[in-house]
Amino acid sequence: MAEAVAAAIEGLTNEAALAALRDAVASCTRCPLSATRTQTVFGSGSPTADLMFVGEAPGFHEDKQGVPFVGAAGQLLGKLLNGIGMTRDDVWVCNVLKCRPPGNRDPQPEEIASCESHLFRQIELIQPRVVATLGNFATKLLSGKPDGITKVHGREQEVVLGGSRVLLFPIFHPAAALYTPRMLDVLQADFQRLPELIGRVATPLVPPVVPAPEPVAEPASVQLGLF
Ligand code: URA
Repeated sequence: MAEAVAAAIEGLTNEAALAALRDAVASCTRCPLSATRTQTVFGSGSPTADLMFVGEAPGFHEDKQGVPFVGAAGQLLGKLLNGIGMTRDDVWVCNVLKCRPPGNRDPQPEEIASCESHLFRQIELIQPRVVATLGNFATKLLSGKPDGITKVHGREQEVVLGGSRVLLFPIFHPAAALYTPRMLDVLQADFQRLPELIGRVATPLVPPVVPAPEPVAEPASVQLGLF
């Protein structure tokens, strides 16, 4: 089904392709979470954002409203963005999982494996310059490494995601600051780095093709008359 959807949306603009992907995700039944969700939570914000946030999974409120980060952690995310002169409309916000795990339990490896291509396709279509991963699940998935958020937060790394070179920037999940207030300082300090990271000149993934020099035309050989 994924190939058929990908083929069907080929040729559409990125924005239309993102809308088509949203529709495809809405009817996804790849994992058992489809049986317990109220609705899928695709993502929200600007489809051409330079900055994308990737959280863990929808919670109770997100499942009811179909929009990511609308609960307490989402309110804090909005405030942190305002602190660097941005709003939710300037960025794209989504999650590793598009469906709520019952009781807000941790995502299971097989759920992440079933869902991850939706996220990679979002990255491919939006082509952000910076992907800020919120917490352990997004960080481990998108870095491809087992290092936890406490070790790697605030350390940008260049990675290729969805066919584009992006800066991956792991930060603590805003929910962590709701339970541990001193985390707020760490989160704010990491957020302050975002404008500079977005402003870094994006290096093209594929080096420019240098045209081969024109072949120099050989002078027509002149048959010298020997006699
Ligand atoms: N809400 C979301 O959408 N994602 C999270 O990771 C937490 C809350």
